[in-house]
Parts: sequence; C-alpha cells; structure tokens
Amino acid sequence: MNNETYDVVIIGAGIIGLATALKLLEKKPNIKLGIIEKDPKVGQQQSGHNSGVIHSGIYYKPGSFKANFCVAGRKSMTDYCIENEIPVWTCGKLIVATDEASESRLDDLEERGKANNVDGLRIVGKDEIKEIEPHVSATKALYAPKTGIVDYTKVSYSYYQKILNMSGEVFLSTKVIGFQRDSDISIIKTNNGEIKSKNVINCAGLHSDIIAETMDVTTDVRIIPFRGEYYKLSKNSEHLVKGLIYPVPDPAFPFLGVHLTQTMKGWVEAGPNAVLAWKKEGYSKTDFSINDTLRTLSFKGFWKLSLRDWKTGLWEINRSLRKNVFLNSLRKLVPELKSEDLSGKGSGVRAQAVDNEGNLVDDFKIIELDKAIHVLNAPSPGATASLVIGEHIAGIAENNFSL
Ligand SMILES: Cc1cc2nc3c(=O)[nH]c(=O)nc-3n(C[C@H](O)[C@H](O)[C@H](O)COP(=O)(O)OP(=O)(O)OC[C@H]3O[C@@H](n4cnc5c(N)ncnc54)[C@H](O)[C@@H]3O)c2cc1C
Repeated sequence: MNNETYDVVIIGAGIIGLATALKLLEKKPNIKLGIIEKDPKVGQQQSGHNSGVIHSGIYYKPGSFKANFCVAGRKSMTDYCIENEIPVWTCGKLIVATDEASESRLDDLEERGKANNVDGLRIVGKDEIKEIEPHVSATKALYAPKTGIVDYTKVSYSYYQKILNMSGEVFLSTKVIGFQRDSDISIIKTNNGEIKSKNVINCAGLHSDIIAETMDVTTDVRIIPFRGEYYKLSKNSEHLVKGLIYPVPDPAFPFLGVHLTQTMKGWVEAGPNAVLAWKKEGYSKTDFSINDTLRTLSFKGFWKLSLRDWKTGLWEINRSLRKNVFLNSLRKLVPELKSEDLSGKGSGVRAQAVDNEGNLVDDFKIIELDKAIHVLNAPSPGATASLVIGEHIAGIAENNFSL
C-alpha cells in the first residue's frame, strides 16, 4: 500500500460509501480520497441485493431523515439515471388494502405521504385499480405514480466510474481488520497493509457496528442481519404484475411486507420477507457463522426484541420455510397466482440497527465525531436516497474535517 496520508478514507464501497465519495469530490476536488472495499467489486452486498425500487417517501415519519431524504432522493435518483443513461422506469406503485383493518391504515398512510409531499399520491377505487393492475382484486388502494425501478448495481458502478475519473482511489479486495489513532492520523489496518488518513467515514453496512467498535466508538446499537428472501415469477405469470404491488405494512415494523415487483433485471420478484440471518452476508437459509451468531446472541437488545416480537419472528420463519404460506400472502394481492408461478429464488440481507432496548432503529443513524463519521443505520430507502445521503454526509465532512 502507498505511504501517503489521505484526507479522507471511506470504509465500504456500497451505494452509500460511493455516493458520499462522489459528493465529497464534487465539493472538494483537490482532496486525496480513498475507499476501502473488502469485495473484488463495488456494490455487492445490500446495494446489489435489493428490490431495485426508487421509493417515493410515503411510509416515513414526517420530518425524519428517511422522509426528507427519500422524497428528494426519488427525484435525484431518477434524474441521475436519465442523465447517465442508466435504464430506469417510473412504473408506479399500488399499495393494496386487503381487509378492513388495512383499509383504515391506508388512510393514515395517505395522510403521511401527503405530509411528506409525495408527488401525485392518491387513493384509488375498484375501477382505477383494475386499470392500473388488472389482476389485483381490491376495493381500495393508494397509488404512487412516481415510484420507479432501477438496477442499483448499475447505479453503484456509475458512481464508481465517476469517482475514478475524479482521481478518487478505490482499494478493492481490501478488508479493514484494525485501527490505530496516532496523534492526528488514523492508521487503518487491512489484509493488504496499512493506509493512513486524517479522517475516516464508516459506510460498512452490515459490518458498520464492528468497524465503529474497532475505532473505539461506543454506541447503543448493534447491526442485526435480517434476510429478505424472494421468489421469481415464472415467465408465463409475469403478465399478472404491471408495476409494483404492495400490501399495507404493519406499522410496528420497518419492513414493507412481501410484495410483487417488476425489476430492471428482466424478471418479476415476489418478496422479500424478513427473517433473522445467522450470518451477516448469509444469503441462503443454511448459511451460518459462529462469530455473527454469538454477536447477535450476546446483545441484550436482541433478547428484548425476541421476547417482545417472538410471534412475528416465528410467523416469518414459518412463511420462509413453507412456500404455500408465502403464496397465501401474495394471493391477497393477486389471487390468480399459483404455486407453480413461484419459480427461481434470490435474497438480500438487511443491516438493521437494533438498540439496547430491543427497538428496530427506524431512521437513518449517522454519528458525527471530530475526525470520523459513522453510518450505523442505512436501511431502505437508502439506495433511493443515496445521492441525498451522500450530499448530507459530505456536508458534515466538509465542516467537521475542516477540508
Ligand atoms: C432485501 C433488501 C431490499 C431492499 N430494497 C430496497 C429498495 O427497493 N429501494 C431502496 O432504496 N433500498 C432498498 N434496500 C436498502 C438498500 O439496499 C440499502 O439502504 C443500501 O444498499 C445500503 O448501502 P450501504 O452502502 O450502506 O451498504 P452495503 O451495500 O452493504 O455496502 C457496505 C459495503 O461495506 C463493505 N465492507 C463491510 N465491511 C468491510 C470491511 N471490514 N472492510 C472493507 N469493506 C467492508 C461491504 O463489502 C459492502 O460493499 C433494500 C435492502 C435489502 C437488503
């Protein structure tokens, strides 16, 4: 590794680390910036294993980071894709009420979306539902016409190319394994040697809590991995889904419920669910890591969460193991779906911060220190909002790091 001292080193080349680097280099083109990424390519973890939806900002508490970043993020992501010739499709999204309880929750959701200034959001009735999604059977739904889809792996790669063009350096296949502070300089230890930097930004996603601890930061959260599993629809059933079809989410959880989504990858997805994963990057049901499991089990917040929400946890495991239960959830949205329509499979693992009291941290969590910034919760709609989050973090860096 070279012996120079960087102004800023970012740990993690997911979509958030890359967007932060991009925005920082746009503000300060002359700084010496490096990104350290353990994988051989950028955007291979959460950023490459998500639903590809450009969310419009309906669900989030007005005034929260999520609400503000998502509404601005939808526009900036769509514009960025158009400017940079990345295929993007504003296909619209229907949130479908499937029973009486969800009908009244739909009104609350509309109110929230309107408070967040979500463009074009409106309640639609039976006839309009049939026009938008002919195979959905419901009497009431919330329609967000500006919700879109994109392949975030392509977006991440586009950010990466721009960073290289602006003289940012990206160290691939380089894992951060230790850290030392030597007066004003951080010495970042990796499997390929040491890198020195005046300032560090931790965007390590599923590993961001471990990186923070390595850097002697005490926090009240731990990242608990939740796998999201999905089926692909068989080719001859893809016509049942025109755009994005979602249920009304359970307000107690930050996950959106299994849904049906067109993708820019050439297939239609059904899912994802949300089951506890025993490995941070455990994409298959049988993946297990003793270290990651012990980390989860030794955290008191995990036990508080489990004691409180064990019924939901068991229900999710049941749905994960039994295809017909998964199918039943989907058939509430599109009754014509049959078991044989669910063919291929895929998954992603969410980095969900849980606090000491067992609460799933809902909003983005960014810790600002003198010479470091730690992104400790960047769940969905993190990809949608990446440019806006990047701009926000770059602004903090500009001030706190005196760049
Ligand atoms: C199943 C699923 C569906 C989702 N759907 C959507 C959606 O439709 N729309 C949306 O907007 N958002 C969605 N999200 C959320 C979105 O994907 C995330 O908010 C976003 O990808 C977070 O990006 P990140 O850069 O923080 O994390 P990541 O993409 O996980 O990047 C972190 C990076 O850090 C690297 N790293 C970790 N440890 C080290 C180390 N020690 N040394 C070096 N590098 C390290 C990792 O290899 C990784 O590349 C979804 C997420 C999941 C999992």
